[in-house]
Amino acid sequence: MVTYYKAQTLADALEMLGRADVQGSALSGGTDLLVALSRQHDETPRLVVDLKGIKDPRGPMVVSDDGLHLGFELTMAQLADDPTARSWFPALTQAAGEVGSVAIRNRATVVGNICNASPASDTAPPLLVHGATVTIASMGGERTVPISSFFRSPRVTACARGEIVTGIDIPRPIPGTGSAYRRLTRRWGVDLITVSVAAAVHGDGRVLLGLGAVAPTPLLVELPAGLDLTDRAGLTTALDEALAVATPITDIRGGADYRSAMLRELAERAIQEVLESTRRSSDGRSVRS
Ligand SMILES: Cc1cc2nc3c(=O)[nH]c(=O)nc-3n(C[C@H](O)[C@H](O)[C@H](O)COP(=O)(O)OP(=O)(O)OC[C@H]3O[C@@H](n4cnc5c(N)ncnc54)[C@H](O)[C@@H]3O)c2cc1C
Repeated sequence: MVTYYKAQTLADALEMLGRADVQGSALSGGTDLLVALSRQHDETPRLVVDLKGIKDPRGPMVVSDDGLHLGFELTMAQLADDPTARSWFPALTQAAGEVGSVAIRNRATVVGNICNASPASDTAPPLLVHGATVTIASMGGERTVPISSFFRSPRVTACARGEIVTGIDIPRPIPGTGSAYRRLTRRWGVDLITVSVAAAVHGDGRVLLGLGAVAPTPLLVELPAGLDLTDRAGLTTALDEALAVATPITDIRGGADYRSAMLRELAERAIQEVLESTRRSSDGRSVRS
């Protein structure tokens, strides 16, 4: 039997999960958790603490000079439609806008997406390349971890028992930064990705790639500093080396070889898209000036 509890405050939710003597889980949009609950097995939680009754007075998302704060209630649809997020973090809003179907995006939260810790999470690769941090609360207080150390293994995160993720912070990109997200899926709206890549070219020259569904957790890799992305041969060599960390498996969504080939293709396309978008925006600036 599963006990359901609707929390009214964060403290209430933390106390309920922290004091429980059974395995408990937070419920956000429920698009993953309800599926898990329907498949009864040893890991199925015995206590579900619903967070949907808790309202952050600051709203689901906060924009500041430092960057964006994504609250635990923020849905994929809200993120995908936000103009500031679209301008600062295009890879992330592209990813959020491609999760599932409209119905799923209206329900699914970004925090739920990372807490589910699927290697095929759509928002993980863009959050990795944009240097997000995750705030985790417990009855004892709060701590912050870089998203690069949040994913431990499939379905396992840095959250300990009784802890809740209260938000994700992403630093405001420095001028000249661009990003893009490319994904491959068998069926839009109902299936997870077969493979995905987020690319970010930062204004300070760093080129980061976030890789989805090619390892037990989403991966972050960096291309060599000073690499000329328009030099085809140099980029090919750099990608050969960087993407060697991928260890794709064969499953119902695709073979390991197919995933490797598509990873390479999507990485090139995502980088190309970033270069084109930064070229367009610098052309726009010179026309206006
Ligand atoms: C038809 C369908 C299509 C889908 N398509 C995609 C897709 O294209 N891409 C994709 O990435 N995903 C997809 N998903 C999976 C799912 O929609 C996403 O992972 C979603 O973002 C999960 O968010 P949620 O709010 O529904 O989380 P929930 O289901 O509420 O929770 C997910 C997990 O996170 C934990 N959790 C939730 N909130 C917190 C918190 N604040 N602190 C700690 N733990 C927490 C829960 O206990 C649970 O283990 C799909 C699901 C369905 C059913």
